[in-house]
Amino acid sequence: MRSFDRNLRKLICDEIDFKGSLSVKRFMEISLYHPKFGYYSNNHIIGNKGDFITAPEINQVFGELISVCLINQWEWFGKPKNFNLIEFGPGKGTLMLDVLRTSSSSNEFSNSINPILFEKSKPLIRIQKETLKDFNCTWVNSFKKIPSRPTFVIANEFLDSLPINQIIAFNHEWYRREIFHSNYELFFDKSDKLKVQPECTPNSDGDIIEISYSAESFIKKIVNLISKQGFSAIFIDYGLTENKTITGETLKGIRNHQFSSILDNLGSTDISSWVNFNKISKIKLNNINIHGPISQKMFLNNLGIKERIENLSYNLLPNQRRKLLADFERLISINQMGKLFNVIGFSKSKYKKLPGFEYSTK
Ligand code: SAH
Repeated sequence: MRSFDRNLRKLICDEIDFKGSLSVKRFMEISLYHPKFGYYSNNHIIGNKGDFITAPEINQVFGELISVCLINQWEWFGKPKNFNLIEFGPGKGTLMLDVLRTSSSSNEFSNSINPILFEKSKPLIRIQKETLKDFNCTWVNSFKKIPSRPTFVIANEFLDSLPINQIIAFNHEWYRREIFHSNYELFFDKSDKLKVQPECTPNSDGDIIEISYSAESFIKKIVNLISKQGFSAIFIDYGLTENKTITGETLKGIRNHQFSSILDNLGSTDISSWVNFNKISKIKLNNINIHGPISQKMFLNNLGIKERIENLSYNLLPNQRRKLLADFERLISINQMGKLFNVIGFSKSKYKKLPGFEYSTK
């Protein structure tokens, strides 16, 4: 891994020498996506042995409930015969596996699915192909390759992984916050002043606002697909739902389940930031209904997680039951994933409801 850091550092510093500084977005693009040394060219990033763990990796109940959500929608939407189920950023392919496995109990539903994985990382595609070898899946990495059919989209912890930019306040004005180096030591500093100043006036020097063009652009493209072809898209991720501009840094590095500087251990540190659900829910969209955002706890409760856990626990040995209850706690407890993780849905406007979003004040 040290060689990843050395190689990426050289590339990044050369580009800084050429341009003067590097935007956070460009830095993330190189550190995450470089085909040889980037974080996503690395095999073992998700899971207990990796850097972070996600809901589908905690317990299969998560994928089973997503499957319930999809089958309900499919029934509400008149049981279409031929549709896409696209997962964006499928990681190890576990969520798709759990959804396809669970839904195989409904032949009519599973015979109509075209499972599609939208993934950029070659090593992760190899892992997904192995995980999903018993199913007839397709892999794409561009919107052009998506077949034109009614579509369900699902994305868990995808938006938080996309590159962002930052601006920083100084003397009541906003500047780009970029990355510089001194003798190959990387550091953040302000660069140019923004020509068009945002409406939000800073409270104090050092305030930071994060701008997620990539996440917004993905959402717009996905929602456009839904609006043209039907049916819906559901995004689950961590972030804030409050109606306020976040003036602070949420960008962070994670390595071996610990927070770590994004400027160290390049290529072996995951980089992510909080999703601004409030901003997403205000994106202007034609012909679309927005559902939520609501907490993951509420979403999973609405889909019947308690009943599912109860049913499963009957036949388990005591230690298996303890593990199941601990997983349940992890998925919905407000001290863990239940509160910081939120869910937002989009449906073509003729579909007024989405399962999982029924009760939002509990
Ligand atoms: N959904 C998975 C993994 C989340 S990690 C889970 O819940 O376990 C983020 C995923 O998004 C990885 O699979 C990563 O390779 C993928 N990804 C990140 N940026 C991407 C991009 N621009 N296009 C496609 N996939 C991307």
